Amino acid sequence: MAKPAPDIRAGRLGKAEIDRNFADLHQPLSRSEALIEADRCYFCFDAPCTIACPTDIDIPGFIQKIRSDNLRGSAHTILRENIMGGMSARVCPTEVLCEEACVRNTHEDKPVEIGLLQRYATDPIFESGTQLFERAADSGKTVAVVGGGPAGLSCAHRLAVLGHSVKVFDKDSKPGGLNEYGIAAYKTVEDFAQREVEWVLSIGGIDIENDVELGADFKLAGLLKEYDAVFLGIGLGDVNELGIDGEDMPGMENAIDYIADLRQTDDMTELPVGRNVVVIGGGMTAIDIASQSKRLGAERVDIVYRRGAEQMGASKHEQELAQTTGVSIHHFMRPVRVHGAEFVTGIELEKTYLDKNGRVQGTGETSMLDADVVFKAIGQRLANEELGRELDGIELQRGKIVTDASQATSLDGVWAGGDCVVDGDDLTVSAVQHGKIAAIAIDRYLRS
Ligand SMILES: Cc1cc2nc3c(=O)[nH]c(=O)nc-3n(C[C@H](O)[C@H](O)[C@H](O)COP(=O)(O)OP(=O)(O)OC[C@H]3O[C@@H](n4cnc5c(N)ncnc54)[C@H](O)[C@@H]3O)c2cc1C
Ligand code: SF4
Repeated sequence: MAKPAPDIRAGRLGKAEIDRNFADLHQPLSRSEALIEADRCYFCFDAPCTIACPTDIDIPGFIQKIRSDNLRGSAHTILRENIMGGMSARVCPTEVLCEEACVRNTHEDKPVEIGLLQRYATDPIFESGTQLFERAADSGKTVAVVGGGPAGLSCAHRLAVLGHSVKVFDKDSKPGGLNEYGIAAYKTVEDFAQREVEWVLSIGGIDIENDVELGADFKLAGLLKEYDAVFLGIGLGDVNELGIDGEDMPGMENAIDYIADLRQTDDMTELPVGRNVVVIGGGMTAIDIASQSKRLGAERVDIVYRRGAEQMGASKHEQELAQTTGVSIHHFMRPVRVHGAEFVTGIELEKTYLDKNGRVQGTGETSMLDADVVFKAIGQRLANEELGRELDGIELQRGKIVTDASQATSLDGVWAGGDCVVDGDDLTVSAVQHGKIAAIAIDRYLRS
């Protein structure tokens, strides 16, 4: 007998419940909480937290300023190294970066809450629109930045501060990249991504054009003729395929597209949600689509990952967060077959193990999970084909752009950073650092 149509529908939960489920993940600190937390810092010399921060923020320095109620100075210390210090305070996996390195992170104690303190120091700047930076005198030089995500905006801001004129081109309708279209909704509430972008652009000297695409609407060669330098911060535009039969069947969805819809909708009760949701993958995208599906009212959400908990791209903290939301994580399982005819009804999984070289092998033992929707979240890639082979003149490795320590590509006059480069590690904070390093190198190049 044919299985009834998949149970996918909007309005599984009412608005009040959805609002509760998507409320700010971490409540901001009050003044007294912040002062108590700041007092816990030992102000270590050669602070390991700063060494662990991808953007080299002087962490004891900004915490010290919180203690003396100098929030403007504290925010300046943060934002001069990481212009997206507001978003980073919300989304950084601090548990594997600064807070993991904190000397107070012991069995008997707990690390200083650096992320929350960073948010406490920077929030008032975005709320009041206070400008902390000044532009140098106009250099007369122009730079094209392709991509208005964290990497591109960080590069554009530093270039503007250094006196250059910047034009940002972005294919989306709103700037911000994955801060606007990807990050989990409960990590960045009240339109914070756009408020932060507006603040970044308020430095002046940055012109932004949306809905224009490199490859389709303009060419790299044209930019190199028109501008003195180019920065590519184009992220990863395409998603990886599972490579199994039936993966194009209705109900087999791409997690990134669904998350983008979720982030852009005005009313989450109108989003169609499956009753049984299966997510394939082990990174931040897998965790986020799973948690958000559960928060939207999916009855059962299962993550399937082909390796163990230790190998998951999402941190232990993120895994636990999903589990406390009600998501089940199945390790050492991989999809081998999609079940269904007109639409997906389930997914067949094979038990896996890692061989002595760390490669995934199947045991041949299979099991089934019923599914109304299966989300693919097994990573993204840079699609040179879709860019009209615009990257042909640049050295690529494993499909990503190769850069040197200054983020310079193999093509003279072109720098790159963020997720699209070989050493991109899929973190907002690292993309910001790449943009900053590239801007400093571009400035040197333009003045030489
Ligand atoms: C679902 C999800 C959740 C995540 N959660 C976290 C998190 O909690 N914490 C964290 O630190 N990181 C997280 N990340 C990773 C983080 O979002 C990225 O590492 C970061 O956004 C990379 O910045 P970027 O500027 O390199 O690329 P992107 O943010 O992808 O920005 C690239 C920009 O380039 C534009 N673009 C692309 N192609 C073209 C073209 N041809 N022409 C013009 N413009 C183009 C795009 O429109 C986009 O605006 C998450 C990622 C995903 C997908
Ligand atoms: S490691 Fe911890 S205690 Fe030491 S400076 Fe950093 S936050 Fe403060």
